[in-house]
Amino acid sequence: MEKILRDGKSMNCPACRHEILFTWFSHLNRENQYIYSKDGNELFVRNNLFNKYLDNNSNKDDLDKKINAEFSNFNIYSISSNVKCHMCGFVFPEIYPNNLSARINDDRPVVIDGMQLRTERGLFIVAVQKPTS
Ligand SMILES: [Zn+2]
Repeated sequence: MEKILRDGKSMNCPACRHEILFTWFSHLNRENQYIYSKDGNELFVRNNLFNKYLDNNSNKDDLDKKINAEFSNFNIYSISSNVKCHMCGFVFPEIYPNNLSARINDDRPVVIDGMQLRTERGLFIVAVQKPTS
């Protein structure tokens, strides 16, 4: 699998203290929207992922159902999900838990070292390293 290499930062998992290297994908196209897997660490990015499913009554459960129906055989994605510690599985808190519109329009997903990135161009592994300088 092709690697995407990024410089990032280091933090310790709040649960197990394992070191986690992370960064933000800050160069998505405006049209790109993203969702994380519920288990494991996969980030799925796609143009206008949510837009065609949105209406005035949209809620997170509806979106999860529609996204999974179209893109996943195993119901793996959730708009409430986030990155997880590879060591202990700690799930980082949901961003914008009470603001669906802000979450959908967020264009800076967090990525951590070793996570899988799924895009329309294929699958990638994200490798995050600490800057050497
Ligand atoms: Zn941990």
